[in-house]
Order: sequence, then C-alpha cells, then structure tokens
Amino acid sequence: MTKSNLYRQYQKTAKIPYQLYNRRPGTDYGWLEVVTGNMFSGKSEHLIMSYFDILQADRFYVRSAQREGIDVIPRNVKAYKHSADKRYAESSIIAHSGMSIPCTAVDSVDRLVLDILTEDIHVALIDEVQFFQEKSESGQYAIVEAALHLLADKRFIIMAGLDKDFRGLPFGPIADLLAIADAKPYYVSTCAVCGAPATLPQRLIDGKPARYDDPVVLVGAAESYEPRCRSCHQILTDEDSYINKMEDLKAL
Ligand code: ZN
Repeated sequence: MTKSNLYRQYQKTAKIPYQLYNRRPGTDYGWLEVVTGNMFSGKSEHLIMSYFDILQADRFYVRSAQREGIDVIPRNVKAYKHSADKRYAESSIIAHSGMSIPCTAVDSVDRLVLDILTEDIHVALIDEVQFFQEKSESGQYAIVEAALHLLADKRFIIMAGLDKDFRGLPFGPIADLLAIADAKPYYVSTCAVCGAPATLPQRLIDGKPARYDDPVVLVGAAESYEPRCRSCHQILTDEDSYINKMEDLKAL
C-alpha cells in the first residue's frame, strides 16, 4: 500500500476521533482510542500520524490561547510499546511505510503506568498493546484497569494492537479494551496468497501452517507470519477439535 493510500484510509477511518484531538481551555477529558486490525494494515501509521496531529493541534491551541491572554502549556505527549516487540529498533515505533517516532519500551503494565505518572504524560500512545497480558488480583487484565484509572484522571490514551491471534481468537486484553474504548478505528490488510481483504495473521512454521496448539515460543524452527483472508487462513487441528465436532453434528 502506498503512503497516500494509507493516509486516505487513515482519514476515512479516523475522521471522528481526529477532530477530538483539539482541545479548549478547561475541557480536558479522558479518551480511549483502541486501534486494531491485521498485521501490515497500518495500525502503527495511525499511531504515528496521531502523534504528529496531536503535537500540531497543541501548538495551535497554545498560540490561540496566548492571543486571548490565557497562559497554557502544551500537553506532554509520549509513545510507548511493549518490549516483546523486537522488530526494528527498541526506542522507536517504525511503520512499514518507513515513518517513525521515538518511543519507550516497557515490559509490564506497572512500568507503563509508573512512567506515565512520574513524567506526567497527558497523551500516551501505546503500540503492540496485545502483549500486556498480565492480570490483576481481581482476574481482570491489568491494562484494562490501568486504562480506566488513567481515563478517570482525564488522560488521553491511544492504543494499537492485533485484535486476533494466529488461531483467530481475541489476542490477550484486546477484546476487553475494545469494549471500554471510546473510539475504535479498524484496519484491514491484503491477503498474501490471493489479494482479498485480510483480517487474520497466518502463522507459518518452517513454511507450513502452524498447529492450533503449537507453543507460542518455538526453539529451533523458522517461524513467520503473513496476513491472510478467511479463505486462505489455515490452522492445523487435532481430530477432537471443535471443527471436527461440527462435522459430526452435521452427520446427525
Ligand atoms: Zn486469500
């Protein structure tokens, strides 16, 4: 996908939340945007363009407030990502189109929240949010509780992550985050096999589709992922899997 196509898709998907990046004195409010979609669909581009949009909106806001004699300071904006994402650099979010912004890698929800609070970050952009899978004592995903706490504190949060894992199931805390989100832009990529709209990540081990119950971490095997449509997406299952059970039900 070319850069201009991506931007058109971004504008179309993000039009309503984008207008909410502007703010007026005394009207700060909590806002959670959860950007999901397949791999290579432009989620990181969305984060990167939101980052620049917010900086620009704040420059405009500070200048117009100063003209009215109101003393305001720009919001503190910072990008984060889960340190499990080892693609490219540790200290930047890099989109497949080549655009990038600086970021801080964190390995847990606690570290993320601690950094947001100690640096007094008003606008936090968080990439690869599906990897924040730890749960709190109440059994809830810690990232969900942390988000609710930050929102009550009038902070602006934009998260991006894969919505489905290679089995097509909700990826970690994503389903819960989508349920509490105020805006949910969704991106689709192109199937690596047939070119149809692709919503699923295909996991390949040594070039073959992964098994449903293959461990997440595999030692000594060449593992890769590619975007696929529902027709081309393949998962190898055991005989007692639900898909085979459905065949039995049909035979009744
Ligand atoms: Zn396909």
